[in-house]
Parts: sequence; C-alpha cells; structure tokens
Amino acid sequence: MAKIIDGKLISAKEREIIAEETATLKNSGITPGLAVIIVGEDPASKVYVRNKEKSCIEVGFNSWVIRMPEETKEEELLAKIDDLNADSEVDGILVQLPLPKHIDEKKVIAAICPQKDVDAFHLENTGRIMVGDYKYLPCTPAGIMTMLEHENIDVCGKECVVVGRSNIVGKPMAMLLLNKSGTVTVCHSRTKDLAEVTRRADILVVAVGRAEFITGDMIKPGAVVIDVGINRCEDGKLRGDVHFESAEKTASAITPVPGGVGPMTITTLLKNTLTAAKARAEKSLN
Ligand code: NAP
Repeated sequence: MAKIIDGKLISAKEREIIAEETATLKNSGITPGLAVIIVGEDPASKVYVRNKEKSCIEVGFNSWVIRMPEETKEEELLAKIDDLNADSEVDGILVQLPLPKHIDEKKVIAAICPQKDVDAFHLENTGRIMVGDYKYLPCTPAGIMTMLEHENIDVCGKECVVVGRSNIVGKPMAMLLLNKSGTVTVCHSRTKDLAEVTRRADILVVAVGRAEFITGDMIKPGAVVIDVGINRCEDGKLRGDVHFESAEKTASAITPVPGGVGPMTITTLLKNTLTAAKARAEKSLN
C-alpha cells in the first residue's frame, strides 16, 4: 500500500514558518497584504476565495476581498487593478479565474504589476520560470515541489510524466521538474497510448480535470503519484483525477483528494505574498 502524502500536514508546517516570519516583519512595521478580486458568482470560485481569505488571516496577513458583479466592464476591472498596483499596503494581487466571458483574461493578467503577481501568471513571471530566474512560482506546481521535498523524493534523473498541459498547472509543472533535472514527458488529449507513457513514470503528476481518469494499471509499481484534480462528482463528493483505490495498491506514495495538493496551492500563495512583503521591507530600508 502506498504512503499517503499528507498535504494538510505539510501545509500546516509550512504555514507555521510563514506565520513566524510574518510576526517578525510586522515588528518592523510591514504587514504582508493580499488583495483578491472576484468577479461574478461562480460557486467554486467563492469557496476558493473564502479559503484564501481565511488562510491569510490565520498567518497574520492583511486580506482584502474585492467582490465585483458579473456585469463588471473590463475597464472597471482594469481600473481596480491599477488602484491596487498603486497601493503600497498591497503586496500581492490575485484575480480569481475564470472571469466572465466578456472580460479578456490575458489583458487582466497583463495589467497586474509583475512584482505583485503572486499567482505568477504574468508573462514576465512565466518567462522567468523558463530561464530558472524567478521571484514567484506558480502556486500549484510549486506546492507540489514543496511536497516532494518534504517527502525526500529526489527528482534528479527520474522519469517524470505530467498528464495535462494547461498554462497554470501542466506546463509550469513540467518546467519545475526539468529545473530539478527530471526527465520530463508531458501528455495531453492527443497523446497516443497514454497508459504506455504513464507506466514509465517514477513520478506521475496528473492534472486533467476528469474524475478517476488514471487507474492503477496505468501506474508503474513503486511510482510517486501526485493527483492535482478536483472534481465534484454527482454524489457530491470531491474526487481526484486518479482512481485512488486502485492506484494506492501500485504506487509507493500518493496524494489524496481532498487533503493533498489543494492545501499546498494556497500555502505557496502565502509564501509568494510574504516574498513580496519582504521585498517591500527591503525597499523601505534603502
Ligand atoms: P485544463 O486547463 O482543463 O487542462 C486539462 C488538460 O488535460 C489539458 O492539457 C488536456 O489536453 C488534458 N486532457 C484532457 N483529456 C485528456 C485525455 N483524455 N488524455 C490526456 N490528457 C487529457 O485543467 P487545469 O486547469 O490544468 O486543471 C486540471 C485539474 O486540476 C482540474 O480538476 C482542476 O480543478 C484541478 N486543479 C487543482 C488545483 C489544486 O489546487 N489542487 C489547482 C488547479 C487546478 P489538451 O491540452 O490537449 O486539451
């Protein structure tokens, strides 16, 4: 049976350190602050935003949630981002995705000042990841790298397979594994014989968005399996992209859903915001 990688526990340890560093920073007069903008009423987005707000408060950050109606015009959202860019108390800005269809997501992300882009979606920050010279890492892939470190799983020289090539998970995940000298293969909907590829993986990261898509027979015995998927099923339960019951019989270690990658994503967001606040503190000294 596979070892369960407890994302909640790792996250709690990481957040303790963040809270300690925040307390130190506050003593020097700087409180890290994260502003989250949510446009519309998407129920899942509302839950994510609430969790982010709660997590910020728990570690001692300032947290602002700006709720804008569904019919908000693109220029109104851009103007709000401009205000936050100029606000010296705000270290990080996050616009909760997805946005309503009439708003251009790319334009919105480009409007966030790269120094405050704690989601690391701005082209400047994604470019920095390519060359391995970054300030902020994208939250979900970086959270996964932190989990692997905590579990003493060395990526160097390992066969790593990432299923999914989204800009927010799959592609940056592949880049971070490559930066750690993994031998990386990225799969997607056009991949021929997916199981043949996944069965080669020592480290398998799955970010597809289909409940229980990867089954135990697609996993190499002893592999480390990281399940990024969050799928709300008809029975109301949350399930990952990996069929947990069959996968845990084959893998050596596996992340559960919920309680695996999810908590680590917010932890990285907090880390990035703290990094931004530290930069503000340093600037104020100069
Ligand atoms: P996405 O943008 O929809 O991307 C899904 C990827 O899966 C695409 O690259 C797609 O390939 C690939 N795919 C679809 N069907 C496939 C198939 N039959 N075989 C192989 N690949 C296939 O999704 P995402 O934003 O990366 O999210 C993926 C999952 O992770 C979702 O469940 C999401 O809710 C979850 N998620 C969780 C967290 C967290 O914090 N835990 C954070 C972000 C996302 P093509 O490119 O060819 O279409």
